[in-house]
Order: sequence, then structure tokens, then C-alpha cells
Amino acid sequence: MKPEQVVLRFGELTLKGRNRHRFEKSVLNTVRGALRPWRTIQYNREFGRIVLRLGGADYEALIDPLRRIFGLSSFSPAYTAALDTEELKERAVRIMRQANPAPATFKVNVRRANKNFPIDSQEMNRIIGGAVLRAFPDLKVDVHRPDVELKIELRETEALLYSQVKPGAGGFPYGSNGKAMLMLSGGIDSPVAGYLAMRQGLALEAVHFHSYPYTSERSQQKVKDLLAKLCGYAGPIKLHMVPFTSLQTRIHGAYRENLLITLLRRSMMRITERLAEASGAGAIVTGESLGQVASQTLPSMNAIGSAVQLPLIRPLVCMEKQEIIRIAESIGTYELSILPYEDCCTLFLPPSPSTNPNPKVVRSIESHMNWLEEEIEAAVKSTETVVIDPLAKRQDETAGFF
Ligand code: ATP
Ligand code: MG
Repeated sequence: MKPEQVVLRFGELTLKGRNRHRFEKSVLNTVRGALRPWRTIQYNREFGRIVLRLGGADYEALIDPLRRIFGLSSFSPAYTAALDTEELKERAVRIMRQANPAPATFKVNVRRANKNFPIDSQEMNRIIGGAVLRAFPDLKVDVHRPDVELKIELRETEALLYSQVKPGAGGFPYGSNGKAMLMLSGGIDSPVAGYLAMRQGLALEAVHFHSYPYTSERSQQKVKDLLAKLCGYAGPIKLHMVPFTSLQTRIHGAYRENLLITLLRRSMMRITERLAEASGAGAIVTGESLGQVASQTLPSMNAIGSAVQLPLIRPLVCMEKQEIIRIAESIGTYELSILPYEDCCTLFLPPSPSTNPNPKVVRSIESHMNWLEEEIEAAVKSTETVVIDPLAKRQDETAGFF
């Protein structure tokens, strides 16, 4: 017996005091995007839920994409039956037979939305519960904490039955809290930062700095592959590829002491801010985590961050590496991140980068680089933007966002 419908629920806590209608609409949009390879599915928003009519689509294949949709608290595969007591009994028994692991206790919960149905919900609970008990003599009723709660909704034209509840991804719907520009390196941290930002309802565009030909094409491909993993939670995401070689070589030619990283990072920030403003992003997201490396001490983060006005969001700032790695593994980016392709910032590294850069000194060095603004502008102009859309490549019946 295969599910014919799926009931999707929203997180009640996240909904409190917020614009429910907008919230639900944006979840529905993400669901439609994620399931677009399955063309037979019909979408209905009703009673604060979304109900999918599968039209023959295979429920098992939908589990993975549905699990990635932020704003969904849970979902249930559902079965339909005619508004007929005998058919309902038979379906209820079949659903209980499918339950895995086999339950010791159960409860039936009938809701009669259709008041024309001649039997009231209490009586229906007894009729269906009795049929289940006859089919499974070892099973017991527990109305307080049953192993399985079999819900039956008696609707206008049909009944809907479901028991299994799968946890959803939680969080805020994608984009419901605005848009941010993710600084995406090929490392472990920034993809995780991007994931957490999306879970909090931020739509993303991403920016990556490369130093081609010093860094390889493969390292650029790695960043695209990482972003494709994040698309699994969002749909297509824009990626801005910034050629950083010219600026990087020029800064390195003018200054190669312990503030080099600070200077390079400030330029990356400025370029990112311009790209963010051009695309309507209201914040910059980075994978910085306090204390990880010389450029992530408080003085360093301040010296780097003060180059821009836009708010900086650092979701990992107080997380330890093991926690970050666990998330990276669970979202499938870890394996890609540890591939050994070079990053632009590992080129021309100073022997001992400063952990305590003085912002005044940094500004003074920059004031002597009278070509800086021009180089930044040139880098912004030669930025190439691509849209990463894993679904566009695989329009077959088995693909979710991946
Ligand atoms: P990650 O694992 O994300 O690379 P990291 O611990 O290696 O982080 P850094 O290399 O110091 O830290 O980078 C700090 C942050 O700066 C990154 O998390 C990322 O947001 C941004 N960043 C670094 N390199 C790049 C790059 N080449 N392109 C875009 N953003 C970058
Ligand atoms: Mg890095």
C-alpha cells in the first residue's frame, strides 16, 4: 500500500507573532521548487498545513527533499479511503500492519470535518479501534502515550488516514528573513555558515575569490560543488566568482609584512559589500570562528570587518570545530571540503600573520595604496556570475535538489 498524499506541517513556535500567511506561502514555494521534477504532484494549502496529492509520484523518493525544507516541522505520508466505514476499517488495519517497529499500544483519533458523515467522531474511534484490536489481539489501547496514533480525517469527498510523523528541518522558510551574501571558500566552515544562515530564513547569494591561474579550475569546481549541496535546501543559488589575482599580487608587491592577510581580507570584504548591495543583500555571512586562526582573533575580526558597513553575520563564531564538522558531515559538505585544492588566501602567506592588527596602522598602509579603489572596482567589474542549479542537470523522476 503506497501513500497517495503527504501532509506537511509548519513549526508553531516559529510562527508565533509572525506573518503566518507569508511564512506559509514561502514554504509552499520552496516545496514546489524542491519537488519540481515530480510533475504529477498537486499542492493545497489548507488549515495551516500543506497537503500534497502525489498523483502517482513515489513517496519514498520525496522524503529526502522534504527533509531539507526549512519551515516544515514535520510531515506524514497519508492514505485515502472512501467515506465508508468498512473501507476505513480495512485501511486502518493495513496501516497498522505497516507500522515499523510493530507497536505495543495505539490510539485512533478521528476528526469529522464533514458534518454530513452520519457517525460522530467518538463512535468512529470505537468502530475503527475495535477493528484494529480484532486484527491484532496483542495490541493495547493507550490514549495518553500511544506508540502509534492513527489519525483519520473525514473530509468532504474522502477520508485521509495517517500515523507516521517524520521530523522536518525546522527553522524559518528560505528567504523569509531577507537575503545575505555568503563568502564561500573551499574550506569546511563557510558552507556550514551558509547552511545555518539559510536555516534562519536568509536567502543566499555566494561570492568566491579565486586567484586563477595560481589556483586551479578544480578549486573553482569544488566551490560550485559545495554550493550545489547548499542548493538542496534552497533551490538555485547565484555564485559570484571574483578574480582576485591582480589585486592580491598588487597588495603583495606593495606590502608583505604581518598585516598582509588583514589587508587582503579587507579588500575581499569591500568587494563583497559592493556585490551585496548590487544584488539587494542586507548582510554578509562568513565562516569565521573565534580563535581558529590568526585572522579570527577579536582584533583581527574587527580590523577586517571595519572595512565595510553592512552587518556581518558569523554563525560559527562561538562553535567549536568538532561541532562544525558534525554539521558539515550531516549536510554532505565535509567530504568535498577536505579535498586538497588550494585557496587564494594560502598563496603569498606572510611568515607570521598578526593576531593583533592595529586598525590605524592598517588604514595608514591602505592610504598609501592609491590604486586600491581602482583595483577593487576592476575586480567587481570582472566578476562572473553563474547560477548553481543541480536540478537543471537532472530533470528525472529520482532527483530532488541534488
Ligand atoms: P573556511 O573553512 O570557511 O575556509 P577558515 O577557517 O579556513 O574558513 P579563513 O580561511 O580564515 O577561515 O576564512 C575565513 C572566512 O573568510 C571564510 O569562512 C569565508 O567566509 C571567507 N573566505 C576565505 N577565503 C575565501 C575565498 N577564497 N572566497 C570567499 N570567501 C572566503
Ligand atoms: Mg579557509
